[in-house]
Amino acid sequence: MRKYGVIGYPLGHTFSPQIHNPAFKALGIEATYEVYQIQPDKFNETVTGLKAGQCSGFNVTVPYKQKVIPFIDEIDPVAQRVNAVNTIKKADGKWYGYNTDLFGFLFPIENYLKNIKSVLIIGAGGAANAVCFALLDSANIKHMTIANRTIENANALKNSLDKTYNTEIETTSLEHESDKKYELVVNTTSVGMGQTQNQNPYNLLNSYTDKTVVYDLIYNPEKTELLKQAELFKLKAINGLDMLIAQAAKSFFIWTGKEFPNHVIDKRIFYK
Ligand code: NAP
Repeated sequence: MRKYGVIGYPLGHTFSPQIHNPAFKALGIEATYEVYQIQPDKFNETVTGLKAGQCSGFNVTVPYKQKVIPFIDEIDPVAQRVNAVNTIKKADGKWYGYNTDLFGFLFPIENYLKNIKSVLIIGAGGAANAVCFALLDSANIKHMTIANRTIENANALKNSLDKTYNTEIETTSLEHESDKKYELVVNTTSVGMGQTQNQNPYNLLNSYTDKTVVYDLIYNPEKTELLKQAELFKLKAINGLDMLIAQAAKSFFIWTGKEFPNHVIDKRIFYK
């Protein structure tokens, strides 16, 4: 029986076992997917233990996507680019690191990409980093605004993007009321879930046109305050569930060499 799982802290909200376990079963793969919540002070010993044990691979989530890198033998170019690993596979006694978040993020907005020239990124953490690289690589973005609570973190992200891209990038606070209109607005902060479930990270009021797509990486709750505001303005609103499933499907392929059986996922079970 092969063993897979996810490491992170805290992990109370993860849907990943509900995605991978039915897929293993549907394809007759003898494997299980478990949750390994690792306290920060136990990180090194637990990852060393996972590598030494029966584990064939694992996902990595907040806050360990960078911290796990020294434990990996070879990192693929996408993960290297964003300096973050979310999928690890053991093969021939070596450990390989990948990042499937960029693919997962782009999947739900594939059909909109060609029309997106101006984008607002809310947040400047690990997910924002992956989102910015994915967008700047895949769409013809002319302008990007990064709005974040801590302006120094937004500036650090801008500086790292400026090394690779010529796109005009400005940074601002979350309270700033922009007079710019965006074709895509992406919330990459955790504002809208857990204790901040009733908060909206950014007021869309002056920033949208009737074509604006609003994409919140949060998948629980199903509709964040930001997405509710987008729907009020009759905009296309996308939550983070399709990204979660798409990045998981790519991890599944990396581990098993088999296409993910999409028919096993009934999205309604996530919101019961
Ligand atoms: P992270 O690196 O810790 O970054 C968190 C971001 O949220 C930072 O910009 C931070 O601002 C901001 N933030 C946190 N609390 C805030 C508050 N109370 N008010 C204002 N801003 C606040 O985390 P991450 O890895 O980027 O993940 C962020 C979110 O993306 C999480 O909700 C995660 O679940 C989601 N996500 C979803 C998927 C998916 O598959 N759907 C994949 C990856 C991530 P400061 O810089 O000021 O601290």
